[in-house]
Amino acid sequence: MTESVSLDSAKVRVAELRQQLNQYSYEYYIKDAPSITDSEYDQLYRELEQLEKQFPTLITQVSPTQRVGDKVSEGFQKVTHQVPLYSLSNAFNKEDLLSFDQRVRKLTQEPVQYMCELKIDGLSVSLRYEEGRLVLGATRGDGTIGEDITQNIRTIKSIPLQLPKAISNEIRGECYMPKEAFLKLNEEREAEGLDVFANPRNAAAGSLRQLDPKVAAKRNLAVFLYSSATTEGLEANSQEELLKSFKKLGFVTNSLCRKCDTIDEIWSFIEEISQNRANLPYDIDGIVIKVNSLAQQQEIGYTVKAPRWAIAYKFPAEEATTIVHEVEWTVGRTGVVTPTAIMDSVQLAGTSVSRASLHNVDLIKQRDIRLNDTVVVHKAGDIIPEVTRVVLEKRPQDSTPLEIPTHCPNCGEKLVHLEDEVALRCINPKCSALLKEGLAHFVSRNAMNMSGVGVRLIDQLFEKELIHDVADLYQLTMEDLLTLDKVKEKSAEKILTAITNSKTNSLERLLTGLGIHHVGSKAAKLLAQTFGDLDHLMHATKEELLVIDGLGETIADSVLTYFAMDSVQEMMQELKNAGVNMTYLGVVPTTVIDSPWLGKTVVLTGSLEHFSRPELKNILEEKGAKVTGSVSKKTDLVIAGKAAGSKLAKAEQLAIEVWSEEQLLQALEGAER
Ligand code: AMP
Ligand code: ZN
Repeated sequence: MTESVSLDSAKVRVAELRQQLNQYSYEYYIKDAPSITDSEYDQLYRELEQLEKQFPTLITQVSPTQRVGDKVSEGFQKVTHQVPLYSLSNAFNKEDLLSFDQRVRKLTQEPVQYMCELKIDGLSVSLRYEEGRLVLGATRGDGTIGEDITQNIRTIKSIPLQLPKAISNEIRGECYMPKEAFLKLNEEREAEGLDVFANPRNAAAGSLRQLDPKVAAKRNLAVFLYSSATTEGLEANSQEELLKSFKKLGFVTNSLCRKCDTIDEIWSFIEEISQNRANLPYDIDGIVIKVNSLAQQQEIGYTVKAPRWAIAYKFPAEEATTIVHEVEWTVGRTGVVTPTAIMDSVQLAGTSVSRASLHNVDLIKQRDIRLNDTVVVHKAGDIIPEVTRVVLEKRPQDSTPLEIPTHCPNCGEKLVHLEDEVALRCINPKCSALLKEGLAHFVSRNAMNMSGVGVRLIDQLFEKELIHDVADLYQLTMEDLLTLDKVKEKSAEKILTAITNSKTNSLERLLTGLGIHHVGSKAAKLLAQTFGDLDHLMHATKEELLVIDGLGETIADSVLTYFAMDSVQEMMQELKNAGVNMTYLGVVPTTVIDSPWLGKTVVLTGSLEHFSRPELKNILEEKGAKVTGSVSKKTDLVIAGKAAGSKLAKAEQLAIEVWSEEQLLQALEGAER
């Protein structure tokens, strides 16, 4: 439908659309009460995009369509803050708070009230508005000079590009990555064979320093605003009023704050928040206590580094010290050799910890971790324990730097450092650790989904030389299987059925299973959809690969290199001869028709033990369910893993059916039988 529109009427409609889209964003992000559905929003957004395409002169920097720029920057410019961003002094217990209170009361004559806020564990950012327009987003830097990250700041949807009032000021706050976005990002990175981020804070920092705003835009960053350079245009006499005026201007503020008169009241707030900390959808590392009155803040003043009128109470760190006895080096599916510290077990954040990933060689060198060192291990929330530092005073005298392997701990071949990578890799395609991990990946739920074929079975098959590569799986016979430990006729039959069934999988499962470098399930699906069958994909040129939206140079090169190998071509032929399906069968397999999941809206929350989130999402979607991100009246079922938080609470409030992971497993198995 391409009606011709005049420039004048387009102008009117464009203004109207922008106003509506901004209003809906405000309802969504600030009031947390959207009045239209996501798809209605998308429709309006597309209409605006269409009009702007038709009339490019109408495009302005503050249009909601202009959040993500397409220019990759070469570096970050330095910028001077209008007023410095201060640091905060710390308190670690109630005594510290009492002496803070005494100091404050000496510096002012009037009675004091405090405002307590959550200390968000992210990065402080400063947003400069001129005449109501966002003109600059900057990092804190050293407090005086920061870096210009405007391109990335603009991609954060809850930050208004245009304020309803023409004020000029710098609004400050904390940028962070919500826990859920962090877990999802790491799952995706893991599937793509990339290094994972140690915590949401690092992930947020990495995202804000992306040179390509398109990448930053995908990272689901969020922000809470809590201070400003001046009070210009803000009509505020206190911290409390400041937060209110921010909210009125369309900024997100954190509502978990409390006005208190005494340290006792503050202490109760701290205790309440400490107990609920794990359920918050973002990480916090303390509570910030600020004198509420802005006039009093000025009266009390600043040290060189920090305001005298505020203090940060820091939660006790979830840290412990222990001794490293051994460093284990293991070879993963992609050949990456990763070190793990084996330590005396210690209690940390309620769990017993004896292993911690050391991630890579660089990290070992940086932190100079040695055998028999006493180390500090840290565990935050759902995150894997990490060795943060060595207690040097306790280092044994005869200690020597840890030996970094030069040869594969499994096959003995020389290890390599690929260009641009911190990882150490075994690139011997015949390395049994690689092959075994590769096989385990091939049969996994997310790939060819051969239920009943697990790591232990693969190990045995491999040791007995019954299989060498994935194609061999399809040649296995009943006799072969019966030679294995603990495999009886009945289970052997099940295994053979699972292998046979996998032959009818749609192509993207095969592609995922092959474990081509950088090709996770998402890329596999794109490739399968685009090329339709393996032959076409194998003959694709680089240009043809690069046409695919969402698929970059790295993946394209990796696919080309992979299929150019003779051994790979042979293996593909073997798979084909064995009757493995090589075509894309579409998203919804025919068996879905009578699936009990058909049309059900499901929400996943908490940490799952048996699946990764994307994996489970895939499984349920294949059965016809719709998996969404938030609980609403339309939700039919919530699957709650460990430490489920606000979504679970919401489900209970709306009386929506909730299943544990166990219940889900039973239901899935029941349906398969
Ligand atoms: P620190 O980095 O430990 O010196 O603590 C100071 C930092 O806490 C500030 O630079 C902010 O980035 C951060 N912060 C987080 N939440 C708040 C808040 N509500 N008020 C003030 N600062 C905060
Ligand atoms: Zn090896």
